[in-house]
Amino acid sequence: MRLPKKVVRELAVEPGGAAGLHHRSTSHTRADWLSPTGRSTPRDLAEHDLESFKQDLASAQELLYASDRWALLLVFQALDAAGKDGTIKHVMSGVNPQGCQVFSFGRPSDAELRHDFLWRCATVLPERGRIGIFNRSYYEEVLVVRVHPELLAAQHLPDGAPAGPRLWNERYEDINAFERHLVRNGTRIVKFFLHVSEDEQRARFLARLDDPGKQWKFSPADLAERAHFAEYLQAYEDAITATSTPWAPWYVVPADHKPAMRALVGGIVVDAIDQLGLHLPAAGPDRAAELEAARRALGGASGAR
Ligand code: ATP
Ligand code: MG
Repeated sequence: MRLPKKVVRELAVEPGGAAGLHHRSTSHTRADWLSPTGRSTPRDLAEHDLESFKQDLASAQELLYASDRWALLLVFQALDAAGKDGTIKHVMSGVNPQGCQVFSFGRPSDAELRHDFLWRCATVLPERGRIGIFNRSYYEEVLVVRVHPELLAAQHLPDGAPAGPRLWNERYEDINAFERHLVRNGTRIVKFFLHVSEDEQRARFLARLDDPGKQWKFSPADLAERAHFAEYLQAYEDAITATSTPWAPWYVVPADHKPAMRALVGGIVVDAIDQLGLHLPAAGPDRAAELEAARRALGGASGAR
């Protein structure tokens, strides 16, 4: 199954255009993307579609591995409680763990702060044939650091480094150049912003507080950051607008309904791998002879399959 192209297009941020987060829904897509097969609720439909995308993703990942040309980098960014962790867990649950690695980026360590702002992510990029998932990423450098510019004081930036809008513009430019370099060298990049509403975030925080099984997920820092919701949204608006490029597009995925969000992410990942046009390595005459020799050595029938 494939996510309809019109849905992929709707969620993509057109390079050169505004992200338009304030106009984008946090709860639904314009197109009816769920396959109408008589099942009862949207949740059922979304879960059914996610299962299908997961199977496609498992085969796509095998092809990625076998063809050994491309790596896939999936970047997940969102405000707290939008569902990054659950989405990564569900969408990737069918994929061979040997072909896939997740990295989560929290506040940088002192050692990390002694390097340029892309360094810590650059050291863990996926190799060819693999899927790398960034749970937060170098984008935090134009998001949380922009909302809290006092963090810059710990970054050991050179004297005379720009401040204010010029700094963020330079970082957007550096990110675009870095991503273009990666794509040119065989890393396909797909970036997701899980777009949750302020009301839904509140409901999820309350659910965490009320459910003893979820209380561990709650951190007082989440509440402090929620006070900056509007500033974060503006930082996301500007960053996504500046860095949705033809080579590394952003997708804004409505995040208020978790099953639908997961299915949409799964569908977009499958679409991205499809676009690579991968194929199994072609077996030349030497390889055919090699396989035939191995078949004979094992006492198998000549020319089987
Ligand atoms: P969870 O769903 O478990 O809360 P999380 O992604 O919010 O997941 P946390 O460990 O709670 O993980 O938070 C990580 C924190 O680190 C976030 O507040 C994020 O903004 C912050 N962070 C990430 N990168 C940077 C950075 N480069 N500079 C400063 N802070 C950063
Ligand atoms: Mg958190």
